[in-house]
Amino acid sequence: MSIIMKGSEVAAAMKEELLREVEKLARKGIVPQLGIVRVGARPDDLAYERGAIKKMGGVGIRCKVIELSESIGQADFEQEFSAVDNNPDIHGILLFRPLPRQLDEQSVRNMINPKKDIDCMSPVNIAKVFSGDESGFAPCTAEAVMEVLAHYAIDVRGKRVTVVGRSMVVGKPLSMLLLKKNATVTICHTKTINLEETCRNAEILVAAAGKAAMITADFVSENSVVVDVGINVGSDGKLCGDVDFDAVVAKVASITPVPGGVGAVTSSVLAEHVVRAANSLNGLS
Ligand code: NAP
Repeated sequence: MSIIMKGSEVAAAMKEELLREVEKLARKGIVPQLGIVRVGARPDDLAYERGAIKKMGGVGIRCKVIELSESIGQADFEQEFSAVDNNPDIHGILLFRPLPRQLDEQSVRNMINPKKDIDCMSPVNIAKVFSGDESGFAPCTAEAVMEVLAHYAIDVRGKRVTVVGRSMVVGKPLSMLLLKKNATVTICHTKTINLEETCRNAEILVAAAGKAAMITADFVSENSVVVDVGINVGSDGKLCGDVDFDAVVAKVASITPVPGGVGAVTSSVLAEHVVRAANSLNGLS
């Protein structure tokens, strides 16, 4: 019988720890606060924002939403962003991307205080992830995968782990986090030859390609662990992952569902990062 690795279980365990940490900060008179910078009002951003506000509220983290006009110019945007970056009451910043075309994302990446950069935009945090320095912030989704594996006591040390996807938000940083934990990592992408065989060879397979149900039963080996990061809309109009869950579930040892898997943990990691930033900015760690 396969184990379904549920994001809600991971998030519940993380919530306990977060509540303890927020309480410790409260005793020092500090209320951790997340600043959400949103340019325009894309439905995806609004949905993520609602989820983040709910998650933060549930553990006592404050949220301040800075909503900017979709047509804002670079100079005004930088001024607004800088005000958030310099606000001592805001400990972590989440900026929705991609930004509208008139705005230069690179300039804001270089601008953000790395200590407030809780979703790894800054080159400083990116370099830390790639050099195995755990003092920075990794992208929340990549770290959420590690949280799921850790919660279900899946030791990656020495294991053959295949990651499908090499983006800078998921595939590449996740591969570095896995490497840091001594996994033997193979990174696949659209030019990979024999993708099916490479995936089947994995003891742990992470799908982060953004292609609905591309991982069929032929891509997985018996008793392997499958983590599905993909969030797609299937041909039936329903939310689905990169893994054909029904076809794969009986074959593998454990698997994350979509929805209800990695996605449910991402905002918990975001909350954990805000708390860590609040500690660090107040000289507490
Ligand atoms: P992305 O920037 O589009 O990158 C996709 C990666 O997958 C690329 O490296 C691409 O290869 C590779 N790829 C695409 N199709 C492939 C195929 N048929 N075979 C092999 N490799 C393939 O996407 P992303 O931002 O990393 O996101 C990946 C998925 O995770 C999406 O479904 C996204 O919605 C989801 N996501 C989930 C969360 C969460 O919280 N759970 C957060 C962020 C993203 P090339 O480099 O060769 O093009």
